[in-house]
Amino acid sequence: LGFPGPLKRHGIMVCVRKRPLSRKELAERELDVISMPRADMLVAHSPRRHVNLVRFLENHNFRFDCTFDEACSNATVYNYTARPLIRHIFDGGMATCFAYGQTGSGKTHTMGGEFTGKQQNVMDGIYAMAANDVFCTLEEPSNASLGLKVTCSFFEIYGSRIYDLLTPGKEQLRVLEDGHQQVQVVGLAERPARNTADVLALLELGNCFRTSGQTSANCKSSRSHAIFQIVLRSAETFRLHGKLSLIDLAGNERGADNSSADRRTRLEGAEINKSLLVLKECIRALGRQASHIPFRGCKLTQVLRDSFIGKKVKTCMIATISPGLRCVEHTLNTLRYADRVKEL
Ligand code: ADP
Ligand code: MG
Repeated sequence: LGFPGPLKRHGIMVCVRKRPLSRKELAERELDVISMPRADMLVAHSPRRHVNLVRFLENHNFRFDCTFDEACSNATVYNYTARPLIRHIFDGGMATCFAYGQTGSGKTHTMGGEFTGKQQNVMDGIYAMAANDVFCTLEEPSNASLGLKVTCSFFEIYGSRIYDLLTPGKEQLRVLEDGHQQVQVVGLAERPARNTADVLALLELGNCFRTSGQTSANCKSSRSHAIFQIVLRSAETFRLHGKLSLIDLAGNERGADNSSADRRTRLEGAEINKSLLVLKECIRALGRQASHIPFRGCKLTQVLRDSFIGKKVKTCMIATISPGLRCVEHTLNTLRYADRVKEL
């Protein structure tokens, strides 16, 4: 599987995934206002103001590289999004795949795996599927001569603080940019992994840390960016060969949220907004092959510097949306953002 269609943008792909209505929404007779008439088209129907007491539905049309409706599985989404990036990192490239959207729209479901009850089936997420393909590719005879080994990092950015998810209890980490313009997260754990089972264990550890110690599990995780990286290095020299970053972004719904009484919550919201804006600008600059990429604008893009600078970079964005009428304003915000990302 490659990128569908001719690449107009340089290595950037933008997709949208719609989740099904939840049981609760169905019970409340929530309306599904998103249709996907074609594999690359999406229409959002939003209510307009009453005119002479008649309610109008307004259609908003969008085109993306790929749209996934509620019947699509994680495996299908993976096949079209992150999977083509595996070959790229073996070719010595850098690749990123972002899940962007409102809290509750399916970012963690897509990246981390489906929830059955309270249990998250990590095997079923893009993180694990990508890891599995990395090990399969590593075993191909043509790759044996590369002498590569696999390591993983898993960390989160909360506000502008960075926490290692594989070394629970560790203080926040610092970012350093050295004289060779390499960005380093100082002290970030990079754990060796020999097979998919090793990676699953690391994911379980990180997920557990990401959601523990919170009064409401989804509360904090929706306010942080989680970054899972699969790194290929030379087994002998430890030199970096390629890197895949898979990112579960913070919820984008905190628009102009001045309503919260808590100053810290407001500041956090502002920080999330800023980072998502900078991210958009960086991806757009990358797509245009601009000489300046504003990656220093926030922690998220700073730590992903490698993935924005250089010749061999590919990026994929999966914008996740809820189907319901009640969320349509947030959904339109997500779609407009995704639309801007792909526009040059
Ligand atoms: P987010 O991480 O964006 O806040 P979640 O991934 O936690 O959202 O999803 C919110 C809820 O919707 C979860 O209960 C999840 O299981 C469910 N969900 C999300 N996407 C899908 C999907 N494609 N199919 C079925 N259920 C989904
Ligand atoms: Mg989530």
